[in-house]
Amino acid sequence: MKDSSEAYCLGIESTADDFGVGIVTLNGKILANASSDYVPEEGGIHPREAARHHAEVADTVLQEALTKAGIKPRDLTLIAFSQGPGLGPCLRTGATVARALAAYLNLPLVGVNHSIAHIEIGKLTTGAADPVTLYVSGGNTIVSAFDSGRYRVFGETLDIALGNCLDVFAREAGLKHKKGMPLGAALEKLAANGKQLIPMPYVVKGMDLSLSGLLTAATTLLRKGECKLEDLCYSLQEHAFSMVTEVTERALAHTEKREVLLTGGVAANKRLQSMLSTIAEEHGARFHVVPREFATDNGAMIAWTGVLAYKHGIVTPVEESFVKLRWRLDKVDVPWVK
Ligand code: AMP
Ligand code: MG
Repeated sequence: MKDSSEAYCLGIESTADDFGVGIVTLNGKILANASSDYVPEEGGIHPREAARHHAEVADTVLQEALTKAGIKPRDLTLIAFSQGPGLGPCLRTGATVARALAAYLNLPLVGVNHSIAHIEIGKLTTGAADPVTLYVSGGNTIVSAFDSGRYRVFGETLDIALGNCLDVFAREAGLKHKKGMPLGAALEKLAANGKQLIPMPYVVKGMDLSLSGLLTAATTLLRKGECKLEDLCYSLQEHAFSMVTEVTERALAHTEKREVLLTGGVAANKRLQSMLSTIAEEHGARFHVVPREFATDNGAMIAWTGVLAYKHGIVTPVEESFVKLRWRLDKVDVPWVK
């Protein structure tokens, strides 16, 4: 086998609106992280439209990543792809590209769990070793920590994901998703000018939480037109972020881990970062947040997690490479974590 610094894994991410291709060396150097995101003309993500976007941009994004890394397809050692969880048509498009590349180049294929990849890229880029992780994105809201061979779920949303909650409200409020300015970021900007905290539903049940009642309440208040939009954005953020922070804090107290990691697209939010940093400090834990480039869905995280699995002898035969739309992270053995 080649030296780890000269052996490369190409990872493909395509669970939802982003099509990403990352290239990392087997010893964890990120050489490229190219992506193209599908921006719907209006409304939320339409899975088939997003998949069509992914198929259209696949060759360009692949080429961009290879050029950035300064390598040729023949230099690759393995191909990783996000096998789930995610939207069926989007996942299938990425998996098809991955299978084709692996077959053409005669390389091993590794199917990666997307949620685990968010944790692993957070660990790689921040140096966190064994954190309680809050993973918050457009499709997921999970508090997780490693125990006995797997990442365990300590708490999660019972209905919609945090990013989705913010996005739906932002769209109702007429905000537009632009390149480089996701809806959650537009909402964060308005929230920074909010002054009045408007009471809204706060639902934590055991270690899980529910955001749909909060979204309905915020949307109803918006439609009534009696509150300032800035105050509504501020109050929505304060309630939702307090819920995820409360659950993360309880997981931290229970596990007695020494680190907190914030990852996923919503990790870019400064207010959420500040809340988590506060609870980490109160428990004598170190707070880590994944860099923005690797917060949102990306190919580098898939490539890196593919490397970790591959180094522990895990490969995915083509006949087992079917996509898994609801693949929970606590169903996956992670022999690379001790
Ligand atoms: P992902 O699903 O990981 O690609 O992340 C996308 C989600 O992150 C969307 O719901 C975005 O609105 C959200 N997001 C991105 N930036 C921010 C921000 N600054 N504050 C809150 N949410 C954000
Ligand atoms: Mg995304």
